[in-house]
Amino acid sequence: MSDTRTAAIIGAGFGGLALAIRLQSAGIQTTIFEKRDKPGGRAYVYHDEGFTFDAGPTVITDPDCLEQLWRLSGRDIADYVTLLPVAPFYQLCWEDGYRFDYADDQADLDRQIAAKSPQDVEGYRRFLAYSADVYREGYEKLGAVPFLNIGLMLRAAPQLVRLESYRSVYAKVSQFIRDEQLRQAFSFHSLLVGGNPFDTSSIYALIHALERQGGVWFAKGGTGALVAAMVRLFEDLGGTIHLNAEIDRIIMRGERATGIAFRDGSNASFDQIASNADVVHTYRHMLRGTARGEANGRRLAGKRHSMSLFVIYFGLRRQHPQLKHHMVLFGQRYRGLIDEIFKGSGLADDFSLYLHAPSVSDDSLAPPGHSAYYVLSPVPHLGTADIDWDIEGPRYRDRILKYLHDRYIPGLLDDLVTVRHFSPFDFRDELNAHLGSAFSIEPILTQSAWFRPHNRDDVIRNLYIIGAGTHPGAGIPGVIGSAKATAGLMIADAQP
Ligand SMILES: Cc1cc2nc3c(=O)[nH]c(=O)nc-3n(C[C@H](O)[C@H](O)[C@H](O)COP(=O)(O)OP(=O)(O)OC[C@H]3O[C@@H](n4cnc5c(N)ncnc54)[C@H](O)[C@@H]3O)c2cc1C
Repeated sequence: MSDTRTAAIIGAGFGGLALAIRLQSAGIQTTIFEKRDKPGGRAYVYHDEGFTFDAGPTVITDPDCLEQLWRLSGRDIADYVTLLPVAPFYQLCWEDGYRFDYADDQADLDRQIAAKSPQDVEGYRRFLAYSADVYREGYEKLGAVPFLNIGLMLRAAPQLVRLESYRSVYAKVSQFIRDEQLRQAFSFHSLLVGGNPFDTSSIYALIHALERQGGVWFAKGGTGALVAAMVRLFEDLGGTIHLNAEIDRIIMRGERATGIAFRDGSNASFDQIASNADVVHTYRHMLRGTARGEANGRRLAGKRHSMSLFVIYFGLRRQHPQLKHHMVLFGQRYRGLIDEIFKGSGLADDFSLYLHAPSVSDDSLAPPGHSAYYVLSPVPHLGTADIDWDIEGPRYRDRILKYLHDRYIPGLLDDLVTVRHFSPFDFRDELNAHLGSAFSIEPILTQSAWFRPHNRDDVIRNLYIIGAGTHPGAGIPGVIGSAKATAGLMIADAQP
């Protein structure tokens, strides 16, 4: 390799950190520049009144994709962070009182499915086999491969047709399972990566197999402890991270990126530049005034973007051992509500929620006798619904907390010690997310793989992308996979 190998990574999300570790492990001198005062991106951490709140990802799947990052340099993840198994994976609750413990225990799943809908026991097994098939084809074989040209897409096409990837997740699940609540139980997963189960390709049904095969884990101390472990590994390898370092521009000479410029006008030169920032922000803002930036920024802004989220972080002066670590609280409507979230022009009256109750597994996240939570509600992004979240946010927060108080966490409103929320405005302003989208470009078939922004720019040959906006997409395993695909390109391109 040449002796001038330096790389800048813009953004310290999971994708940026994983890429940094891979590059630094390969001997490329790597520097991360992160806008915010802490690393992690969507996996930011709040510390309020003795409580620790993970801001974003809490469900850790495919731990092997993380462990690989340590193995690259002969290290062991266990020396940096402890991953704890979560059981059940999730508890799913409906307003009619029905509950389903989605666990990694076939006999228990069979028993619960038989009690609800005996004819679906066999159907679930066939769905699991289907999901495992898609997992092999879509995730294991192609999840960390850069789709730089249409050739790879064409080679994958016969498998995509065989797996009926043109059907939606919900339609595919419905081929196997009859009961409506069980259909919901096995189709909501695509929402975890920003996909509408009624629109997103059935290849995203692979998430089910991903969870069944690799388990669902929680980092002791919270996802923030995993982020801190990745930063420590990167620094132990000799890398450098700068916080409070927002990049204003990528500096170009002809069709090469030569460096980055900060807001104060100072700049720094690098051989290779990778952006973990939102893809529209990368092209439209950081490459503004360049032909490539203007054209691609416009094109990407016109794509369909995932919904946003409204997240409430709260701490209580009591514990609630009746709760499970991960809970999905379905509201009155499923399809109708999801339609409104993805296509409606306002905020629906009802909601479906994900409740994170980590204190049931880890007592380090709250003061003694207390408990920490977050609850999130998928909401339209700012291009779909013109909602003034400065006004609506506090009202929406109060409605959701009251709902939890009435149905799932008795006494919540009396026991509140601290509460804060994060709205689509915050996704836009804090994270530079286009339209305040929580998961970047929507994972539909025509925006996946080769149709997604590429891991290396097609024109600027030393500019790379990692994170939710490129292949394979959002979610921790997705963005870690994107880092693997991008690192392979950067390491190869760095060869003299
Ligand atoms: C509330 C929530 C819950 C989720 N739950 C889960 C879950 O349980 N499991 C799961 O697997 N996934 C989950 N996800 C999805 C997952 O968190 C994301 O897909 C993933 O973390 C995104 O990582 P990323 O690499 O794309 O970077 P991001 O996390 O988007 O980070 C990008 C970084 O770039 C920085 N940046 C932006 N512009 C600039 C600039 N100009 N200069 C410098 N820095 C800049 C930002 O500040 C940010 O830190 C969740 C997401 C959310 C929002």
